[in-house]
Amino acid sequence: KREKRRLQQQELREKRAQKSIFKKQTKVLNSRVNNILSAPFVLQIEEHRICVCVRARPLNKKELTVKDLDVITIPSKDVVMVHEPKQKVDLTRYLENQTFRFDYAFDENSTNEMVYRFTAQPLVETIFERGMATCFAYGQTGSGKTHTMGGDFSGKNQDCSKGIYALSARDVFLMLKKPNYKKLDLQVFATFFEIYSGKVFDLLNRKAKLRVLEDGKQQVQVVGLQEREVKCTEDVLKLIEVGNSCRTSGQTSANAHSSRSHAVFQIILRRRGKMHGKFSLIDLAGNERGADTSSADRQTRLEGAEINKSLLALKECIRALGRNKPHTPFRASKLTQVLRDSFIGENSRTCMVRTQHNHVINCDNMMN
Ligand code: ADP
Repeated sequence: KREKRRLQQQELREKRAQKSIFKKQTKVLNSRVNNILSAPFVLQIEEHRICVCVRARPLNKKELTVKDLDVITIPSKDVVMVHEPKQKVDLTRYLENQTFRFDYAFDENSTNEMVYRFTAQPLVETIFERGMATCFAYGQTGSGKTHTMGGDFSGKNQDCSKGIYALSARDVFLMLKKPNYKKLDLQVFATFFEIYSGKVFDLLNRKAKLRVLEDGKQQVQVVGLQEREVKCTEDVLKLIEVGNSCRTSGQTSANAHSSRSHAVFQIILRRRGKMHGKFSLIDLAGNERGADTSSADRQTRLEGAEINKSLLALKECIRALGRNKPHTPFRASKLTQVLRDSFIGENSRTCMVRTQHNHVINCDNMMN
């Protein structure tokens, strides 16, 4: 009996020891996870030729009242976790977690200023170095593209001074004052136009319809596009306001027009009339899937098809550039045709901000 009791006690002791090791390990793991989640993101600006980032927007009041699932988590500065709701064959529901990596990931608390610092701001210098810079906002309608590019909304009013358009202009004028650029005697011009259903409209000239043609040197020209000279940030803000009012006036006459067109704002540097550098800031039309528009009328579906065609063309161009392919399919859409000179050349840099709205109904779109 004594032998038996000894054995039992020995086993008990071993079990206890294992338990405490397990507890310790869990504690360490938990504290590591907590550290990751609570640590402030220490972001460093990195140099990229193409930079891709994601920005999540906070849920609005209406979405909060529905209390639906928040489908993304941003655990660190460059990781996005998507919790995709799925159903097993026996109808039990579960979440499938997938992790994606980007150059930067901004959570819903990030401001325009912060997004700007890591995306468009590093590109400002490029245009002073005779380069071409391009910054896209890409995402579904309502995900915050216009908020990011144009500025914060308070109700229906937009504060243009807080968008990437204005912040870039501010830095262009600051850079212009630096001694090594001051001596170049550069002039700053701005253009603002939109591409809707494969047609180009000048937002600074009462939406005049423009033609896109190639000149003798195979350079794509938007014929008649108004280039306004700007001397300070305030001039740029005025132009943005004029352009935005033009965009929204179309919205009432032709159903939610503004989110179905690509808006292109360009800051152009010229030296004695010759192009020195160009910064294109583009608020892309909301991408949509056939499933979202199947109930809409013919016109809406055609517009959707046109939008998808141009986004697809853009994707193909970026892919061709990324792989240094000899042929880049620019002609596939007006958008890529107009942006052709911004993509090619040694000194061109691009950044893409994917805006994202965390609501569960957008999960498919986000995965796509
Ligand atoms: P899109 O241009 O993609 O269609 P909007 O920029 O018009 O989307 O944004 C839709 C709504 O979401 C707006 O009312 C805007 O105020 C709000 N919104 C977007 N992004 C943010 C953000 N980062 N913080 C707070 N509100 C936002």
